[in-house]
Amino acid sequence: MCKKRAYINATIINGDKLVPIIEKGFILVNEDGEIFKTGSMDQLNLPEGYEVEDLNGKYIMPGLINTHLHIFYDGSPRKEMVGEEMDKYIKMLHTEEGEKYLLGVAKNCIDTLVNSGVTAIRDVGSVYNHDIIMRNEIKSGKRVGPHVVASGSLIVPTAGHGNYFPTMHIADGPWEGRKAVRTNYARGVDWIKICSTGGVSDARYIGEAGKPHYTFEEIEAICDEAHRRNLMVATHCQSTKGMREALLAGVDSIEHGGAIEDDMISLFLDNPKSLRGYTALCPTISAPDALIKSQAKFTSSKENAIVFENCKIIAEGCKSGLLTAIKHGIPVCVGTDAAVPYVSQYNTYKELIYINDACETLSEIDVIQIATKDSAEIIGLGKITGTLDEGKSADFIVLDGNPAKDLNVLKNPLHVIAQGNFIKTPLINRIKEIEDIF
Ligand SMILES: [Zn+2]
Repeated sequence: MCKKRAYINATIINGDKLVPIIEKGFILVNEDGEIFKTGSMDQLNLPEGYEVEDLNGKYIMPGLINTHLHIFYDGSPRKEMVGEEMDKYIKMLHTEEGEKYLLGVAKNCIDTLVNSGVTAIRDVGSVYNHDIIMRNEIKSGKRVGPHVVASGSLIVPTAGHGNYFPTMHIADGPWEGRKAVRTNYARGVDWIKICSTGGVSDARYIGEAGKPHYTFEEIEAICDEAHRRNLMVATHCQSTKGMREALLAGVDSIEHGGAIEDDMISLFLDNPKSLRGYTALCPTISAPDALIKSQAKFTSSKENAIVFENCKIIAEGCKSGLLTAIKHGIPVCVGTDAAVPYVSQYNTYKELIYINDACETLSEIDVIQIATKDSAEIIGLGKITGTLDEGKSADFIVLDGNPAKDLNVLKNPLHVIAQGNFIKTPLINRIKEIEDIF
């Protein structure tokens, strides 16, 4: 149950760019945390029992949606990506104490996200089912937070990307893949996340990030099994070759991506083996960008040097994929890969700026739609959030300046409204070493 509130005298950006901006408007939020009525001030007929928040000409837009992150780490800087210190840390995570510690981390991440104006997330790889636990607590009203779309434990091949985290499914061959999907389904996930290619953080040689690890038949079996349960499949996939195989096998979203060749464009747009008939791209420019910018801060071991060489290759691929996707109307969503060192849980807005800077043809309002309406639809929340339409969940942020003119105003939302819960003074504990770099 929420307090009924009337947010009045604000400029309202809907999230759907085809809906005209309301210059002087209002939003009524009912006790179920939904948008009961919205319109221009001259249409306002204030029902009884509503507390009024006069916003004095401030801006309202939907909360941001971050479709690629992990709530098992806050993105704090580390001295190394691979090596002894990392091994010790990973070992600790596998203990009972580690599980407790990680639950605390998950709660903090959720708190940071919502205070930074993020009102829906897709966790693409969690530990100990913490994304499912957070989702359920938020749904039941026990905790204020974003809508959580949970993928539960990653499904990866032996020695695949991310295999060392606790509770991962190490699944080789079509049948182990199917079993892992069924297990995650039983646990209550909303999506399936696999790592079909190598990744930056644990590659052992230059070029391994992006190398196809899962075979076509393994990906195909996982997609088929997931689709039987009405679950979509996201894959960590960082090369052209890996993307082509994943598209043909029927994945529903490609994470990070790489250069998209001509024959792949039509497969994204019309993919008969995907659950909904298309495949989306989540380019996560923030992650390689942050690692490259922070490179000097890492120890200069041979292993870490490999990480950064791979990072440069991947950064190019992500941007190239994004440009082709935008040019050809491939659905794109916003994700940062928060949890990667130097990618905090509070800098989602930076991904919007990267997308805006990379794509000349996109205006700020186009990017806002990508981060709200489009991202909601891609992760399967389009019916309940992403735009400020009547009947939808009241998920919005109040801003000092006009985000359609300058996306930097998203850095410090004045207020956040998440599923109707009013966060009057959002608080973010910023991480100093990250602030120093950006
Ligand atoms: Zn990730």
